Amino acid sequence: MVHNVSNQHVYFMDKENTPVLTAESGDTLVYHTLDCFGGQITSEQQTVDELDWSILNPACGPVYINGAAPGDVLKVSIQSIEVDDHGTMACIPNEGLFAERMDHSLVRILPVKDGTVTFNDQISFPANPMIGVIGVAPAGEKIPTGTPGHHGGNMDNNKITAGTVLYLPVFQPGALLAMGDLHARMGDGEICDTGVEIAGTVTVQVEVIKGFTLSNPVLETKDTLYAVASEKTLAEAVKTAACDMAEIVMRKTGLALDQTNMLMSAVGNTEICQLVDPLITSRFGMPRTILGGLLD
Ligand code: CA
Ligand code: ZN
Repeated sequence: MVHNVSNQHVYFMDKENTPVLTAESGDTLVYHTLDCFGGQITSEQQTVDELDWSILNPACGPVYINGAAPGDVLKVSIQSIEVDDHGTMACIPNEGLFAERMDHSLVRILPVKDGTVTFNDQISFPANPMIGVIGVAPAGEKIPTGTPGHHGGNMDNNKITAGTVLYLPVFQPGALLAMGDLHARMGDGEICDTGVEIAGTVTVQVEVIKGFTLSNPVLETKDTLYAVASEKTLAEAVKTAACDMAEIVMRKTGLALDQTNMLMSAVGNTEICQLVDPLITSRFGMPRTILGGLLD
């Protein structure tokens, strides 16, 4: 069955959120999402201090998925991401990688047409629509939608695109899947604090996986399996993602840790998702030619 998800946006991933609707494992969900500014930016003359910061990073949903229970995994197959005809970027004073040199606000509105983002008269680039915020209700207290964690959330992982499969740990009955913060394009690191922020429509198929537990999200692209982890520092995020991947490699191949260590060192990649959200998110990727998918 196909469900439209559109009439509620939340600002926390929270077990107390009232679900917009209830779906069954196997159903298709169509999320209509706002941009991370909640549509507040309509002119390049605006500054970021005019924004209502309490409505940043709206996530559409959540949806209760029948049968999903703590300890399960929610498999989210991302079928399509359609984005609006313009995206927004902002530099925020004292934020981002150049925080101490960014003393002013800058807002840009960038046309997005036929798969191309126009930055200025000279510079344009292909869009690569991705989901910035996607997650379930966390185990404990509510977590702002702008923060990533074990539950997913604001991972800003530019590999979360159409055609990929995201596996999320389930912490609460029904999982409570919500998402938003699409980007027409974002580079690894998201160094100015924003990608090309954009509203749009995401179609996913959800499936509850029993008898399989994860502590952090796992992403499967056409050619790579990624463990995704968010921590206070880059070093910790890199290590957690690699440790999570080592568990997957050992489980799938039967190799001990020493050989797993070698294999990951030879063919695996440590990568950065984002540096600014306020935890750091890293992913460790292994080729599927060697490892296959998460569940096969
Ligand atoms: Ca984001
Ligand atoms: Zn964003």
